[in-house]
Amino acid sequence: MAFDVDFFVIGAGSGGVRAARVAASHGAKTMVAEEGRVGGTCILRGCVPKKLYVYASRFADDFADAAGFGWTVGDVSFDWPRLVAAKEKEITRLSEAYRANLAVAGAELVRERATVVGPNRVRLASGPEISARHILVAVGSAPSVLPEVEGVAHAITSDEAFDLAELPQRLLVVGGGYIAVEFGSLFRRLGSQVTQVMRAPNLLRGFDEDMRNGMRDAMVRVGVKFRFGCLPTRIEKKADGVRRVTLSDGSTVEADQVLIATGRLPHTKGLGLETAGVPLSAHGAIKVDDDLTSLTPSIHAVGDVLHRVNLTPVAIREGQALADRLFGPGAKPIRYDTIAHVVFGTPELGAVGLSERSAAERFAKVDVYMSDFRPMRATLSGSPERAIMKLVVDGETQRVLGVHILADHASEMIQLAAVALTMGATKDDFDATVAVHPTAAEELVTLHDVARRYAGGKPAL
Ligand SMILES: Cc1cc2nc3c(=O)[nH]c(=O)nc-3n(C[C@H](O)[C@H](O)[C@H](O)COP(=O)(O)OP(=O)(O)OC[C@H]3O[C@@H](n4cnc5c(N)ncnc54)[C@H](O)[C@@H]3O)c2cc1C
Repeated sequence: MAFDVDFFVIGAGSGGVRAARVAASHGAKTMVAEEGRVGGTCILRGCVPKKLYVYASRFADDFADAAGFGWTVGDVSFDWPRLVAAKEKEITRLSEAYRANLAVAGAELVRERATVVGPNRVRLASGPEISARHILVAVGSAPSVLPEVEGVAHAITSDEAFDLAELPQRLLVVGGGYIAVEFGSLFRRLGSQVTQVMRAPNLLRGFDEDMRNGMRDAMVRVGVKFRFGCLPTRIEKKADGVRRVTLSDGSTVEADQVLIATGRLPHTKGLGLETAGVPLSAHGAIKVDDDLTSLTPSIHAVGDVLHRVNLTPVAIREGQALADRLFGPGAKPIRYDTIAHVVFGTPELGAVGLSERSAAERFAKVDVYMSDFRPMRATLSGSPERAIMKLVVDGETQRVLGVHILADHASEMIQLAAVALTMGATKDDFDATVAVHPTAAEELVTLHDVARRYAGGKPAL
C-alpha cells in the first residue's frame, strides 16, 4: 500500500525534531506537524529559559560574596523586562536553528495541529488528511493545574512565569518538585519574596533524604518561606490585582502571583489516539513496548508523552532510537538506570542511581559514604552555604549504586559520575582515582569512612 509519507511526526519538540531529522537523513519521506513554535518545551518554556534565569539569579550571590574577596560593588539593580527580552532573543534564535535543521535534513514542516484519525492516518487542523506508514506521537506534556482549587484561573504555571510583565514582589509557589524548587530559588534571588507550599512534608520527593534536607536548608537560608503539608483551596483576585490565597490549614497568604508547579501530564487530550486503538493510562500517557511502539504497530511515542522520565535528553535519545530502528541501522539500547537528575537550585543538586533509602530496601548490604562541608568559596565570602556529597555503595560487591551531590556546579560533576556508574564503577575505582585539587569534586574520590551501613534493609552501624 502506498502512503503519502513514510513517517509523520506530531510535535516538533526535543523528541519529535530528533526523530524527524534522523528519519529524513535515513531517506524516509518525513513530515512534522507543530501547533506552536518549533523547539517544544525545552527551548521555549523549559530547560533553556529556566537556566538563563537561574544564571541571572546567581548574580545576587556573586555581588554579595564579592566583598570577601576584596571587591567593592556599587549600587546594583535588576531589570526584569531586560532579562525577558534577552531570553526571548535567544530562544527565538534556537527555535529558528531547530527549524533550519529540519529543513536541511529534508523533513517537511507543517505549522498546525495534527490529530490521529486511524492507525495510518492523521488530519491537519486545516482539513487535509495524510496517510503515513509510521506515526510518531511526540506531543510532550503540559502543566497540571489543580482544577479543584476555586479561582485557580488567577494562578499561572511555569509556561507564563517566564514572560510576566513585571517581577512579582510576592510570589506563592505551589509544589515541591524540581520545577517548583527551581522557580522558588531563582525568583527569590531576583528579588521576590517567595512562599512555597506543598502537600508533602519535604520538597523533592524521590531524591535522597540528605539532599532534600540540604536543598530545603539552602532555600530557607536565602529567605524562602515553606509551608509544608498544605495546598491552596481558594484563590481570590482583589481589585488591586493581589491574590488572596486560602490554604487547606485555614490560613491565608497574599501574593502578587501564584505559580502552580505541581507536575505535568501528557498532552494527549483530543488527539484521537483512542480511535486508532492506542490505549492511554489514567494520566493520559501512551503505553509502549521496549521499541517505543504502542499496541497499534504503526503508532509510536517518545518523550514526555510516555510520562516516564520527563527530561529532554531522554526524549532525544528515544527519538533517535526509534528513527534508527524504523529507517536506519537499528537502535542502540537506552540505559534508563543511570540517567542523572539535576535540580538547578543554588547550590545545584545532582543525583544518579539509587538514593540511600531505595538502595537499603533493594540490596542486602549497603554502605553509605558522605561528606558535608563548607565550600572553599564560602570561607572568604562568609556565606553560610554547605555542600554535601554522598556515595551509596553495594556492601557485597562494592559497586557504586548512587552518587548524590549538593554543591555549586553539581550538574557538571554528576554528568561524569553518571559515566562511571554506567561503566559499573566500584568504590575502589573511585578511591583509585587521584583527586583534582582544590575542588569540591575531590571529595568523591577521598571518602574513606562509612557514615552509615545497612544490612537486610536495617541500619547496621
Ligand atoms: C519549567 C521546565 C523546566 C525544565 N527543565 C529541564 C531541564 O533542566 N532538563 C531537562 O532535561 N528537562 C527539563 N524539562 C523537561 C523537558 O522540557 C521535556 O522533558 C522535553 O521538552 C520533552 O520533550 P518532548 O519532545 O517529549 O516534548 P516537547 O518538547 O514538549 O514537544 C512537544 C511539542 O508538540 C507540540 N504539539 C503538541 N500537540 C500537538 C498536536 N496535536 N499537533 C502538533 N503539535 C503538537 C507542542 O506544541 C510541542 O512543541 C523542563 C520542563 C519544564 C516545563
